[in-house]
Amino acid sequence: QKVTSRRRFDGTGRTADGTRVELLANVADPAGAQAAIEASAEGVGLFRTEFCFLGRSAEPGMSEQVAAYRQVLSAFPGRKVVVRTLDAGADKPLPFVTSDGEPNPALGVRGLRTASSRPGVLDRQLQAIARAAEAENAEVWVMAPMVSTAEETAEFVAACARHGLDTAGVMIEVPAAALRSSAVFAHAAFGSLGTNDLIQYTMAADRVLGELAALSSPWQPAVLELVRTTCRGAAEHDRPVGVCGEAAADATLAPVLVGLGVRSLSMTPRALADVAAVLGRVSDAECVELAELALGQDDPIAARQAVRDRIRPVL
Ligand code: PEP
Ligand code: MG
Repeated sequence: QKVTSRRRFDGTGRTADGTRVELLANVADPAGAQAAIEASAEGVGLFRTEFCFLGRSAEPGMSEQVAAYRQVLSAFPGRKVVVRTLDAGADKPLPFVTSDGEPNPALGVRGLRTASSRPGVLDRQLQAIARAAEAENAEVWVMAPMVSTAEETAEFVAACARHGLDTAGVMIEVPAAALRSSAVFAHAAFGSLGTNDLIQYTMAADRVLGELAALSSPWQPAVLELVRTTCRGAAEHDRPVGVCGEAAADATLAPVLVGLGVRSLSMTPRALADVAAVLGRVSDAECVELAELALGQDDPIAARQAVRDRIRPVL
C-alpha cells in the first residue's frame, strides 16, 4: 500500500542514474507559490497568469500586473519561474481579451491568438513581466499558450526580445505545433507540453466532459507519439522540453515521459513527492524501455497496465 504522506521530495529530481529531471510546480497565485515552496519544488514550470485576472472586464493596469507577478516571483529567488502569458479563452474567460459568442471557443481566438486581435494587451503584459523580473531575482522564462505554427513562435520570441525577455518558449498543446516541432524549436528556446489541451485537440474530445474520459488519456498512443515527435524536433536544436499538463502528476507515466525525451515535469505541488520517488528508482535505460513498451500497446488501458506491471515494485 502506497503511503504518500511519508514521502518527501528532497528538491532535486533525478533518475536512478542521476540524470536530472527538473521537478517543478504549477502555480496560479501566491498561495500556490507557498505550497510549491513547502513541497520543495525546484521552481515553477507553469505560472498561469490569467488566473490573476479571471472574469475581469477591464485590462489590469501596469502596476497591478507588476505587483501580481512579483508576488509569485519573490517566492523563488534564484530559481526558474516559467511565466505563461495570458491563456484567455474557452475554459478561462478573460472578457477584456476574448470575445463572446464564438461558436467553438476552444477553437477560437484564444491564447496567443489574441495577440493579433488585441496586440497591446500582450505587449503591456510582457512589459509588466520584464519589470517584475527586473525587480525580483527569479530566473524568468516566458512562454506563450496555444501556439500552432513556427511563424507564431517567431513573432512571440521577437516580441519578448523587444522587452529584454531572452528566454522565450512556447507551449506545445496543438498537434500542429507538435508535428512541426523542429520548425517551432528553430525559434523557441524551450517547450512545454500542455497535455490537457494536446489531448483535447488530438482526440477531438472536450477536456471538461467526463463522459469522454476514456478518450482523454495521456496514455493514448496518438498522444505519446506526439510527445515523442515534439522531443525529437526539440533535440535537433538542443532545446529542452517539459510537461506541464496534468499528465506530469501521474507517477506511473513520469518514467515514460522521460524515456520519450522530456527533461522537466511541472505539476500540482502535492504530486511532487510521488513522482520524484518513482523517477529516482528507474534508470535511464528503463525509462526508454518503458516508453517503447507504452508506445507498443494498442490502447491507453493496455499501455498503463503494461507499465504498471513492469514498475510495480517502485510505485
Ligand atoms: C495544458 O493545456 O495542459 C496546460 C497546462 O494548460 P491549461 O490546463 O492551463 O490549459
Ligand atoms: Mg492549455
